[in-house]
Amino acid sequence: MPDKVDVAIIGGGAAGLMCGLTAGRRGKRVRVIEHANRVGKKILMSGGGRCNFTNTGTTPANFLSANPHYCKSALARFSPGDFIEMVDAHGIAWHEKELGQLFCDDSSKQIVRMLLDECADAGVQVQTSCRIEGVQKMADGFRLETSSGTVECPALVVATGGLSIPSMGATGFGYELARQFGHSVRPTRAGLVPLTLSGTHQQRVQDLSGVALPVESRCNGQAFRADMLFTHRGLSGPAILQISSYWQPGDDLRLDLLPDRDAL
Ligand SMILES: Cc1cc2nc3c(=O)[nH]c(=O)nc-3n(C[C@H](O)[C@H](O)[C@H](O)COP(=O)(O)OP(=O)(O)OC[C@H]3O[C@@H](n4cnc5c(N)ncnc54)[C@H](O)[C@@H]3O)c2cc1C
Repeated sequence: MPDKVDVAIIGGGAAGLMCGLTAGRRGKRVRVIEHANRVGKKILMSGGGRCNFTNTGTTPANFLSANPHYCKSALARFSPGDFIEMVDAHGIAWHEKELGQLFCDDSSKQIVRMLLDECADAGVQVQTSCRIEGVQKMADGFRLETSSGTVECPALVVATGGLSIPSMGATGFGYELARQFGHSVRPTRAGLVPLTLSGTHQQRVQDLSGVALPVESRCNGQAFRADMLFTHRGLSGPAILQISSYWQPGDDLRLDLLPDRDAL
């Protein structure tokens, strides 16, 4: 006999757990199915281990999407203030670093614990080390074949995240499933990443590794004023991470190391 739930969620990351606890609070029977041996691995490494859990200045303009309206209703229904309320209710101490970025004083583990406690309170089943072997559309919902048996559900949420850091459990599962159900999938590319250099450029920056300075980074009509960090492999820091989302191989990237000043 298949297990029956109201909502099955594939992926136990930030999105899967948030979705699970929200549906659970609405009285739904929910199961979160995670293939890794624990949930929230990316949350654990986020914000250098202290999880930059929200930004008080979040607006739809901060989201890159082929459909810029897509995030509007979600942001209107659940604001940074709502998340801060949850963090406070769990007694997690936090601080603002800069530009509205909020971090845990102690550890990202507290955010994972909070999400799991909220799921438990809402009666959500969280199943780890469970592989999805097939997803089929039925007349009244979906049928999942998993390594722990068959699950049937009227509502299926795919929250398997993006492709970055496969060692943390990331897969292309969501994209493959979207294709299976006839959706078009836009080409994927890296975003919010450091830039690696090669050849003489890399040799030049190696000696400066560890040095940070305020810069202006510019590419394809976007500009960011923030710190840039020289690393052994290239360039990092907020000014580079931000502009990386607008850069594609071959594009012109300009870095002003003396913004508003004349070097002469
Ligand atoms: C180094 C780093 C630092 C970051 N720092 C921050 C930060 O400080 N603040 C911030 O807001 N964001 C940060 N991010 C981004 C943030 O981690 C992601 O935006 C967020 O975790 C995405 O959540 P998600 O649930 O969509 O995806 P994920 O966290 O990737 O979760 C997807 C889950 O699905 C599971 N999964 C994948 N395939 C399957 C499958 N076939 N079956 C079952 N389960 C599957 C994965 O194992 C994973 O647990 C950081 C990211 C990185 C890489």
